[in-house]
Amino acid sequence: MELDASIARREFGVGSFGSKIDKRHLSFESNSELNAYLANVAPLYISWSVAQYEFPSRMPMESKKLLGADLVYEFDADDFKLPCRQRHDSWNCSKCGAHGLGAVEACSSCGAPPLVDEWVCEECLNETRNHTQSLARILLEDFGFNEKDLHFNFSGSKGFHVHVRSPSVFEWSRAARMEALDYLTLHELSLEGLGFLEVDGVWRCPLWSLAGGIARRILQGLSHFFETIPEDRLAVIGSLSQREAKNFLTNRNGIVNGIQRGVLLPLSNKKKNELFWGNVLSHVVERQRLRVDRQTSADIHKIVRVPNTLHGGTGLLAKSMTLQGLSTFRPLQDSVVLKGERATVFVSRAPRFCLGGEWFDSMNGFEGPLPFHVAAYLVAKGVAEVRG
Ligand SMILES: [Zn+2]
Ligand SMILES: [Zn+2]
Repeated sequence: MELDASIARREFGVGSFGSKIDKRHLSFESNSELNAYLANVAPLYISWSVAQYEFPSRMPMESKKLLGADLVYEFDADDFKLPCRQRHDSWNCSKCGAHGLGAVEACSSCGAPPLVDEWVCEECLNETRNHTQSLARILLEDFGFNEKDLHFNFSGSKGFHVHVRSPSVFEWSRAARMEALDYLTLHELSLEGLGFLEVDGVWRCPLWSLAGGIARRILQGLSHFFETIPEDRLAVIGSLSQREAKNFLTNRNGIVNGIQRGVLLPLSNKKKNELFWGNVLSHVVERQRLRVDRQTSADIHKIVRVPNTLHGGTGLLAKSMTLQGLSTFRPLQDSVVLKGERATVFVSRAPRFCLGGEWFDSMNGFEGPLPFHVAAYLVAKGVAEVRG
């Protein structure tokens, strides 16, 4: 439990099995009062408000008297739609009974929205961490926050949270928060306005030496793209033939030098040039776009998991860490805290998964003893029951 002088000014909410928040508007005068509540009630989830209020337990919201709020950004592995979901997620349709692997939005046979069983693995959590680190770079370099203002924590399940606590953001209006969000998510970005445009058949970009902020981010993304992209991927992204992509990439250094000098080198086939660079720029912008949830990030009254408490849907710790700690954190290992005797459980369904540094094969209708933290994880996820 993170102890902090702001506790008395925050609204708390607790949840139980299957519901992250079923009671809100709680408040605690002190750390000891909060700890006593946690010891007595032991809720499965506990969240606190991003905002601080004069009267945190009052209802309705306006009567709480808002004093200010942190900035909180959440990254969730599901939002990256990575191929690993095909290995660990599954869906089934309660309307027609169809089922399959992966996370789909509509049943493939009747079109109804299916129930999706979502899991995570190292691959999707690493990608989520990469985005969290990109956000940190922007908050430090472009927004000018100090590293001590940034607080990171594992969500305890599928992602990472970043809390910015600083007097300079505390009183930001909703409009200011939305503007910051637009900047991070490249919302309604005008490439032309930034200086990426076609002039007399040649694409121009801003000069590297003069570019800052978003323009710099895109230039860096473009350079990285041309330093690393394989020929066949470039052909797909840029709508080129394999041979055209190969020919163009024989001059990787020239392309990257061009980007430094404000010129996007033209293709030899001039007719395809406009479409090619348009496609490449869209691709690079898409890669630079931070996948923070706009809705929840803009909500000043939201409540989020208290760092260093357990996530009730996994039994894992929402461990807090520094920026440096984030780079070496092993989500499915370092968050395991429930240790104990092996427990006998019945597991209805689980894909092959890794927890606590150990792999477990898929289980369907398995009954037997499992390490305590694994049993707790499966029971919390709602796919196992304790037996015996
Ligand atoms: Zn169906
Ligand atoms: Zn995954």
